[in-house]
Amino acid sequence: MPAFIETYNCRKGSLNPKKYPVSSREDLENCLASAEFAHKTGALLDINKRVEFLSEIKAQIINNKEALFEVYSTESSLNRIRFNAEFDRTLMQIDTYGDAALELNMRKKQSVLTDRTISKTPMPLGPIAVFGAVNFPLAYSTLGGDVMGAFAAGCPVIVKGHTLHAGTSILSANLIYKAREKLNLHPGVFGHLLDIGNDIGQAMVQDPRVKGCGFTGSFSGGMTIYRLTQNRKDPIPCFAEMGSINPVIILPNEKELNHHINALVQSITTDAGQFCTKPGVIFCPEPMLHKAVKMLNDSFENVAPHPMLHPSVQQRFQQRLTEINKCFKGKAYFNTDKEFGITRGFFVASMEQYLITPALQQELFGPAGVIVAYESEDELLRGLKNLEGQLTATIIGVNPEESIFFNWACANAGRVILNGVPTGVSVVSDMHHGGPFPASSDDRFSAVGEASILRFVRYVAVQKSEHK
Ligand code: NAP
Repeated sequence: MPAFIETYNCRKGSLNPKKYPVSSREDLENCLASAEFAHKTGALLDINKRVEFLSEIKAQIINNKEALFEVYSTESSLNRIRFNAEFDRTLMQIDTYGDAALELNMRKKQSVLTDRTISKTPMPLGPIAVFGAVNFPLAYSTLGGDVMGAFAAGCPVIVKGHTLHAGTSILSANLIYKAREKLNLHPGVFGHLLDIGNDIGQAMVQDPRVKGCGFTGSFSGGMTIYRLTQNRKDPIPCFAEMGSINPVIILPNEKELNHHINALVQSITTDAGQFCTKPGVIFCPEPMLHKAVKMLNDSFENVAPHPMLHPSVQQRFQQRLTEINKCFKGKAYFNTDKEFGITRGFFVASMEQYLITPALQQELFGPAGVIVAYESEDELLRGLKNLEGQLTATIIGVNPEESIFFNWACANAGRVILNGVPTGVSVVSDMHHGGPFPASSDDRFSAVGEASILRFVRYVAVQKSEHK
């Protein structure tokens, strides 16, 4: 008897009617064998075919926008505005990667020496395993950056769809299948699997036919996958994009506190705070703390109700709050939205309290944060030393790049924001989305922007001499 996956609509408070079958080991084997064949026979080696494939996927997505919205919104409870933004971004990523593939292909150069020529060519790495995150059912999932980046690099892809948006993942997969069929590409260029539990995903990344892995999700999931890929007889590149706390530093010279606090609360609470770039801790000069706390509280009181992605995500968030409340004796300002019962708000800590409370220092995936008072630059530097690698670091104040914290931010985060908020990752060539461990497993690469396709490319140099 096959097992089935059920998804949940948090706006209605009920399960969605459709059930989705779990993939079997045989399905996995078929995907792997087919992907290996597609790779070995160069199914996506021709750059024009690849670009055509990406364009056709884009056309399929555009033609099925409403069907995608229907399943996306019922499984994630994200609204139309958010869907539109993610939809546009998904299309933009496809264009960006297509252009990047063409450019990479044109960049092929030849070094001419006296007795030989050497030419270097980018080659697809091989079949890539992709795991998407719960909070981006389009842009970081089956139609997302890792999949399109790998196609752009010429690699077959096998996706392990996210269980909590299984229907969105299946519809997305069907659009890719249609594009593939229309262009008569080998079936192995794309495979899709679903699972309850972790067996299929873990077996997939350990299989020698898989040559690379893209993961977006939690630290614990990312590290499990990363370790499996590194412990293989033939270790493979694994690009795990994981969580982040995204510290914000308010400088003592800041005069527009109200403006920035309002923007920060928006950034903490939009879509119920379920972003990897959500600001998790705000370091505030002690003399401004009282004002900042009042402004934060006023702003949190006005946050519109928004459900979380799934009851299990909400439960995990509530557990984290309970865990903090058990060991943290400082002040906390929280309210609960009446429509969906989601707790929103923030903890207030001195630097001392922050440093002795490890639970306060971990990612809080939901609409909540921590404000920490610092009394001097030295005290703040002491607090910052405690933080691990970050996706982002934000500095708010006059001339933030001249502050002593700017160098710290550049050394410890993949993206430094000056007088803004960290949410909203633009898909542009100069974006870097990644960061020192544990934000990502390899901070030399970006998961967003053209450079992201380089994760799935290897090079071959051909050296030729005159035949004598
Ligand atoms: P998750 O629980 O780690 O799940 C991600 C995917 O990995 C799912 O397909 C999941 O399978 C699978 N998985 C998790 N643990 C596994 C294991 N031990 N073995 C095999 N497969 C495993 O993460 P999530 O809840 O979806 O996402 C939330 C997290 O993602 C947050 O921490 C957020 O900050 C982070 N995130 C990071 C970025 C970024 O760009 N850095 C972007 C978005 C989100 P199932 O479907 O079966 O659960």
